[in-house]
Amino acid sequence: MINFTVGPVQSSDEVRKIGQEQVPYFRTPEFSNIMYENEKLVKKFSGASENSRVVFITGSGTASMEAAVMNIFNENDNVLIINGGSFGQRFVDLCSLYNVKYTEIKLPIGKGINEETLKKYEGEGYTGFLVNVHETSTGEHYNIEIISDFCKRNNIFLLVDAISSFLADEFNMKELHVGAMITGSQKALACPPGISLIVLSEDAIKRVENNQTKCMYLDIKNALKNGERGQTPFTPAVGILRQINARLKQIERDGGQQIEINRTRELAEYFRNAIKDLPLEIVPEDSSNAVTALHPLNNQAYKIFETLKDEYGIWICPNGGELKDKVFRVGHIGDLTIQDYDKLIDALKKLHDKGIL
Ligand SMILES: *Cc1c(COP(=O)(O)O)cnc(C)c1O
Repeated sequence: MINFTVGPVQSSDEVRKIGQEQVPYFRTPEFSNIMYENEKLVKKFSGASENSRVVFITGSGTASMEAAVMNIFNENDNVLIINGGSFGQRFVDLCSLYNVKYTEIKLPIGKGINEETLKKYEGEGYTGFLVNVHETSTGEHYNIEIISDFCKRNNIFLLVDAISSFLADEFNMKELHVGAMITGSQKALACPPGISLIVLSEDAIKRVENNQTKCMYLDIKNALKNGERGQTPFTPAVGILRQINARLKQIERDGGQQIEINRTRELAEYFRNAIKDLPLEIVPEDSSNAVTALHPLNNQAYKIFETLKDEYGIWICPNGGELKDKVFRVGHIGDLTIQDYDKLIDALKKLHDKGIL
């Protein structure tokens, strides 16, 4: 199978080889060094400031979304949430669950934000802003500069879910004044699922230190304290952390995050150019480099997904709910090449000849 989904995605041979090895004991200086190195490289690739910290959580991306919401905010906060799809909705659900007061900025599918969108929230005393910079369910990449300027002007803490955007789209925590950033192992990090991480600025660390969290496993204070010695409070997904280490060092060796972002953009552009003549509409106003969300004009999105899977050995990403037949997504993250895309493009053309697309 060739995997063009948005996670888990294809891993490099180097990363896969580590998956075969015995999992080592981890309460050792050797494993701590791996964790220090992971923290250092994640900080570098996300443009985090010198005194930022990274906590690694064993759990998928949502575990870190939940940890971030419950450790950074409390019932004294009043936050804004961009909700333009299922991941925005997840932040809404989390704030409801943890009694964080919120206002939802509800956007239609695939619509972006502009200065006008935020105008009426100016000077209203909000304390937090939550956004999934790439709303993976629709492929929309929000204008983070506009959000960042709004937050700077209003002195608002900015929490960014960059789970599917980190290493795929340009992003610099320090320049954008991002309070905390979340990502996960199975998106552009291209490792197996099971680890997510939060990069915390000094502001975020202060918020965490002053907050009371009623959860033992997702207590970031505890994770920060253990992180000082390169450890985690509980047994982490040791094997995946070793794979993350290999992958981060591989990106470093190849020239850093910008090279990886460029590589992803080139794959995305190659694919988007090649499908121009097919009856497919790009869904979002502004696409992330990580994925192309497409609306087949014949509304057979799910059938296209099934046929590619069963007859061509290709996975694309279906959508759920009301978008099931309207949208499918093609990912550009993971260990993919132009030759892989040629196979997908060829298959899509065949489906078109057969009337399935
Ligand atoms: C993948 C993803 C998540 C996390 O999903 P999990 O299944 O918990 O890993 C969260 N937000 C966005 C934007 C994502 O793309």
